[in-house]
Amino acid sequence: MAPERGYNVVLHEFAHQIDYEDGWANGAPALGTGQSRSKRKQEYAAWTRIMGKEFKELRTQVQNGESGVLRAYGATNPAEFFAVATETFFCKPKKLQPTHPGLYSELKMFYRQDPAQWPPRKPATSSASPPVSSGILWHFHWSIKNGILLSFAS
Ligand SMILES: [Zn+2]
Repeated sequence: MAPERGYNVVLHEFAHQIDYEDGWANGAPALGTGQSRSKRKQEYAAWTRIMGKEFKELRTQVQNGESGVLRAYGATNPAEFFAVATETFFCKPKKLQPTHPGLYSELKMFYRQDPAQWPPRKPATSSASPPVSSGILWHFHWSIKNGILLSFAS
């Protein structure tokens, strides 16, 4: 499949993978692992509230034929929403942050990354170059195999 702008199949599948870590592919990954029960409950409540609101807004937007920074495919169901939000978070962080600040900060907390602050990438040498560097892809690969997300500072 030909990747669209801002669409990254590795990030997309990666998101599904971590979503499924708690045994349910429902757009809510395992949150607050290693924390107290009440803290975990709080994190799930915040996640559900923000993700639910953002998902609903995307559905409305798609129904109205409008387009925004999040791909319309994310309106399919909560699991696809999480995958699409993850792609956008890493591929278009500077667009996502001002337009969806709540969503951005939930993902920032979850991934413990702040891609909007990453320095700009070096200019691509060809128009066919992948949207993320191979170093980052390698880290994702490694992370999926080992079940954890590494810091991917290059
Ligand atoms: Zn998907």
